[in-house]
Amino acid sequence: MKTLQDKIALVTGGTTGIGRATAIAFARAGAKVVVSGRREKEGAETMRLVKEAGGDGLFVKADVSVAADVERLVATTVSTYGRLDIAFNNAGVESAVMAPTADQDDDDFDKVMNINVKGVYLSLKYEIPAMLKGGGGAIVNTSSVAGLIGMGGVGPYVASKHAVIGLTKSAALEYSKAGVRVNAVAPAAIETPMLERFTEAVPKDFLTSLHPIGRLGQPEEIADAVVWLSSPQASFVSGQTIAVDGAFTAQ
Ligand code: NAP
Repeated sequence: MKTLQDKIALVTGGTTGIGRATAIAFARAGAKVVVSGRREKEGAETMRLVKEAGGDGLFVKADVSVAADVERLVATTVSTYGRLDIAFNNAGVESAVMAPTADQDDDDFDKVMNINVKGVYLSLKYEIPAMLKGGGGAIVNTSSVAGLIGMGGVGPYVASKHAVIGLTKSAALEYSKAGVRVNAVAPAAIETPMLERFTEAVPKDFLTSLHPIGRLGQPEEIADAVVWLSSPQASFVSGQTIAVDGAFTAQ
């Protein structure tokens, strides 16, 4: 069943990893997909995979921490397809510094906050009016299990992912009645380029042992949750954060 047939979906951070897998899953579910990110070569590869999956759409280069870029991204989507129905605000970066709070780096803190928090804030700011014009929509933001619990050594990242849940809840309170549902996903460790970088510092076996399910997650497993949250099957779900984490946060 194509649960998103003829919907117009936007994915930030769609050039690799979870965003790429979700762009493909949106296409398989019948949506036209606008994929965004800063790297054009990787964006083109995502579009190739979207088309290979029988879908269609376009890549728009944009930095989510720059308001003019996000405004242009949403405007391009609406001018090309006439409306915006679904948005997956997924662009994010990890902390480059692994250290206790007193030893954190101020510039890295600003970078993480600008992309992970301001990026989601700006995305919501420009997506919501476009969705309201079309009579409603569904938004999913990417938080993390680091948005649900504390983790030593990555305080700025943890703070940024808690903030994503705050933005999600507030926007859901403001716009659910007008027809825009806003939710978040909270993945545990998922095998993406970000995890590859992280496992240069933290061994993969150790990371795996933290997951009661006994393995790491795959990007497609997050994509499935995002497709469901974006679909009419989740019509009464808003303001929620769904952990997709192999029981990580059940401990
Ligand atoms: P990834 O492969 O590194 O993907 C990150 C994506 O974010 C890329 O498409 C990247 O594209 C984009 N991005 C980064 N900064 C951006 C900016 N300023 N403007 C626009 N796009 C930007 O890693 P991933 O694991 O799929 O991460 C996706 C999301 O999941 C992130 O929010 C991450 O925090 C979250 N997450 C990941 C895990 C995990 O274990 N992998 C767990 C929990 C949560 P460009 O570089 O082309 O701009």
